[in-house]
Amino acid sequence: MTTATTPSYEDAIARFQPVIGLETHVELGTRTKMFCGCATGFGADPNTQVCPVCLGLPGALPVANEAAIEATIRIGLALNCRIATWCRFARKNYFYPDMPKNFQTSQYDEPLCEDGWLDVDVDGETVRIEIERVHLEEDTGKSLHVGGATGRIQGATESLVDYNRAGIPLVEIVTKPVPGTGAKAPEVARAYVTELREVIRSLNVSDVRMEQGSMRCDVNTSLNRPGEEWGTRTETKNVNSLRSVERSVRSEIQRQAGLLEAGERILQETRHFHEDTGKTTAGRSKETATDYRYFPEPDLTPMAPDVEWVAELKAALPELPRVRRRRLQEAWGLSEHDMASVLNADAVDVIEETIRAGAKPDAARKWWMGELSRRANESEVGLTDLGITPQQVAELQALVDAGTLNDKLARQVIDGVLAGEGAPEEVAKARGLAIVSDTGALTKAVDEAIAANPDVAEKVRGGTHAAAGVLIGAVMKATKGQADAKSVRQLILERLS
Ligand code: ADP
Ligand code: MG
Ligand code: ZN
Repeated sequence: MTTATTPSYEDAIARFQPVIGLETHVELGTRTKMFCGCATGFGADPNTQVCPVCLGLPGALPVANEAAIEATIRIGLALNCRIATWCRFARKNYFYPDMPKNFQTSQYDEPLCEDGWLDVDVDGETVRIEIERVHLEEDTGKSLHVGGATGRIQGATESLVDYNRAGIPLVEIVTKPVPGTGAKAPEVARAYVTELREVIRSLNVSDVRMEQGSMRCDVNTSLNRPGEEWGTRTETKNVNSLRSVERSVRSEIQRQAGLLEAGERILQETRHFHEDTGKTTAGRSKETATDYRYFPEPDLTPMAPDVEWVAELKAALPELPRVRRRRLQEAWGLSEHDMASVLNADAVDVIEETIRAGAKPDAARKWWMGELSRRANESEVGLTDLGITPQQVAELQALVDAGTLNDKLARQVIDGVLAGEGAPEEVAKARGLAIVSDTGALTKAVDEAIAANPDVAEKVRGGTHAAAGVLIGAVMKATKGQADAKSVRQLILERLS
């Protein structure tokens, strides 16, 4: 029985050095499955997207999906990998009800892509994560345990299997062990998965949604004392949010530190992360490769990607997210901190499009990061679902630049656009929103404000210009915010000098 107590994170990190390693599965967004022509759409009725090949019926023969191979090579290239000139699929043999063939067609010692790297930024520092391999395999089906309270197999009265997902192309991206990140190991793990997701998204090969399982992470963690060899790793399975990636490393560091301090050994095992407690619990003790009886898949021809084709794919890669971020940060003149806020708000694309539609960087950022972010948060939608387009924001800003609107009026125009009343210019017209620039009308409002506030007027006359604020306020109120505050102030000072 364990006598270990769990130390604080700070204590754990003071005594031990962590090593992390990440295995990430990405479901590709191909139209058809990896080895058959079945559809891959999400949410269809159970077992309606299956055929003899993906059900593993006797005699059915697989054919590899070229689009999936291409997507995998592009991922490998984006991660600076070497692309194999010849490689094979392998059978990974094991029994599990969600895998109808009783083996998974995967890759073993001949992955499609090897030896790459991905740079990630953590607190203004660059950490290079080395990539061991990127290989292609197929997804399994899904089990559903019913009749119990929890949806788990324990307590269930029956289990159902849906093979729609079985055979969907799956790319596995495995990092080399990452030592040397110290207390930042949890953040580095998160930053890596975040960056990887961005890279894959930019390639347009998967929707990489962790909540829906099209991107899934296994997080390996080990600890050693300074100067000692790396410790035994545990593998936390299917961590399905970025936050959980970070938390699972952190909690595993604390748990392992407690055991090691008590003189116990770490078992090489898989563990499960629980969102509610933020802790991991033991899964199964780890199989070794020999348990899987890997052997080359005899029903599929080897893959031999043409060198010229690979070079073309490389030349056609899009600008990678980190490069793009750097470029935009410089072009927009933002500090690290401001750029980080823009990224956090997921506002890069909309700001870029607003600028492309004619707005200045500062103005584009101001609207999306201020007023529009606030409203998006309030109604709990993303910026792109808010109901105003980058073109409309640029149009709005053009009205401000032309002196037709001030910010206050612009916000009322936004109300109208979001209420579906049309484009900014239409809304401004229909609602009668425009700065009152007619000096006659303004002078009248100013005189009325002065007459209504004789004491204040006296102070301003006596040289206390700060008191003019009250009069400005009164004029703004009388003109329903449609006056330009600067001209009002000027007028007031003129009348009272
Ligand atoms: P498996 O399929 O058995 O989990 P993989 O080779 O696919 O093995 O992945 C192992 C992962 O664990 C890799 O990301 C690797 O970098 C990482 N890893 C290996 N040794 C350690 C260690 N001592 N500490 C932390 N991570 C490790
Ligand atoms: Mg693995
Ligand atoms: Zn099929």
